[in-house]
Amino acid sequence: DISNRVHSRHPLPKGMAFTLQERQILGLQGLLPPKIETQDIQALRFKRNLEKMTDPYIYLMGIQERNERLFYRVLMEDIERLMPIVYTPTVGLACTRYGHIFRRPKGLFVSILDRGHIRSILDNWPETNAVVVTDGERILGLGDLGVYGMGIPVGKLCLYTACAGIRPESCLPVCIDVGTDNEMLLKDPFYMGLYQKRDRSQLYDDLIDEFMEAVVEKYGQDTLIQFEDFGNHNAFRFLRKYREKYCTFNDDIQGTASVALAGLLAAQRVIGKPITEHKVLFLGAGEAALGIANLIVMAMMEAGVSQAEARKKIWMFDKYGLLMQGRAQAIDSNQEVFAHPSPGDVQSFLDAVNTIRPTAIIGVAGAGPLFTRDVLAAMGTLNERPIIFALSNPTTKAECTAEDAYSLTQGRCLFASGSPFAPVTLSDGRVLTPGQGNNAYIFPGVALAVILSGVRHISDTIFLQAAKALAEQLTDEEMGQGRLYPPLSNIREVSIRIAVKVVEYVYASGMAFHYPEPLDKDCFVRASVWNTQYDSFLPEIYEWPGTSHLPP
Ligand code: NAP
Ligand code: MN
Repeated sequence: DISNRVHSRHPLPKGMAFTLQERQILGLQGLLPPKIETQDIQALRFKRNLEKMTDPYIYLMGIQERNERLFYRVLMEDIERLMPIVYTPTVGLACTRYGHIFRRPKGLFVSILDRGHIRSILDNWPETNAVVVTDGERILGLGDLGVYGMGIPVGKLCLYTACAGIRPESCLPVCIDVGTDNEMLLKDPFYMGLYQKRDRSQLYDDLIDEFMEAVVEKYGQDTLIQFEDFGNHNAFRFLRKYREKYCTFNDDIQGTASVALAGLLAAQRVIGKPITEHKVLFLGAGEAALGIANLIVMAMMEAGVSQAEARKKIWMFDKYGLLMQGRAQAIDSNQEVFAHPSPGDVQSFLDAVNTIRPTAIIGVAGAGPLFTRDVLAAMGTLNERPIIFALSNPTTKAECTAEDAYSLTQGRCLFASGSPFAPVTLSDGRVLTPGQGNNAYIFPGVALAVILSGVRHISDTIFLQAAKALAEQLTDEEMGQGRLYPPLSNIREVSIRIAVKVVEYVYASGMAFHYPEPLDKDCFVRASVWNTQYDSFLPEIYEWPGTSHLPP
């Protein structure tokens, strides 16, 4: 039908791999070259071509449209190399020119002009278990990209399938278009959204409300809705507003928190110092910083420290300087609990490091290389094993490079970044592998667990469990290489184990609604996992026994 022709929702199933019988029965004989191809050969051709492509994002996304199983097979086989294309950093670049490289639409677009009609739009997408939605206002660290931000939900859902084996048909990427304040896009003839400034009125809130209601009405109350790359103010507001009412989480706040906490827990294993003895200084005080800070507080409380004591161990430094009680510039209600009495004269981030003497600095400002040489050297002087996380994405926004972090601390620091950095060889010949504090370690496994167990509301404790389950999986050997996270090449097994732990946790704590409760959670999770082998398109052929269907 027409919607299938417009849209890549139903990709061609298997290319030249149709069998002779399938070709004959489906009327494909002669439309394909005579050779019956195996998926192995198709995968080989795909990989060879990919190596030569100057724009691998476009090629990869084209294969996703043409042969979905082949796409996921290759993505899974080579996830470490290909994830940086479908996800940060390349997806960021793709988003900035989404309308220029446009081939075919993916996902669902809901604009503010569609208010009152969202349900009928959803009727054009028959089924889903999981939605990733953005309004394009804060794409990675790149700012407002409007409808060009669609690349992010598309990429995130690719990882649902590649990392956690969630069926692609279960996934729906959505872009909400309420305009953009990006002047360049408003002048861009290839822009794909409404040519208007962002609607920041009540209409915007009404639209999101209507969207949430329509999703559960159409797909069910337990439909997972992941918020992604909303502007700071809206991200917090919607999380608070919807978390008890829908099955929802915000990846920039909660997913980031979980992956960063996992890195800290791993670092704590290396250093042998409990989480409660750390002092953390953030650069940035937004979604990521507050999400991480609150989860660290939860982890510290679990280790026996009071909430007030835990909060005192966390400091934040934003655009206006150190978050301090009574400072002139506004502190919002989310930040208040991390605003402490002035520790002394602090003008710069370097001053803050030297005054507060943190054991860990975490960069989530999205403002570029602000962990200067002086800052890194100071961390090396203050700590035997300083923890340095430069989490801002994409790579150009990172607070420092892996190389600088290691070399300025003589290889002593425990480093993680948001976007990938290559291993670093120190002057003494040691090779250190930086951790990638990538949300992709967390959200696919959590999503799988949530979908399978029928959780109605996603509590922060789920992200605490996921962080622990991730940190646990780091082997001693990997720690020796400087890693804080298991290798990305292993992410499928990592995600499945996280899902198993979360499933165990939600059943044990009465949050699961899928009954009867599966006895063996490991089997339960693994049995659900989608694989990339081709289906047969042959009808089932069988004989009837006996002769009772024949006349005497
Ligand atoms: P956000 O909510 O907009 O927060 C950004 C924060 O940084 C705000 O507090 C902002 O202050 C502050 N800031 C901006 N410029 C600064 C400067 N020059 N010096 C000090 N502080 C500054 O954004 P977010 O969601 O937290 O994301 C921030 C970054 O983290 C992005 O680059 C994003 O890609 C990255 N991130 C990475 C991961 C990951 O790798 N796991 C996950 C999530 C986010 P004002 O509010 O005063 O402007
Ligand atoms: Mn995000």
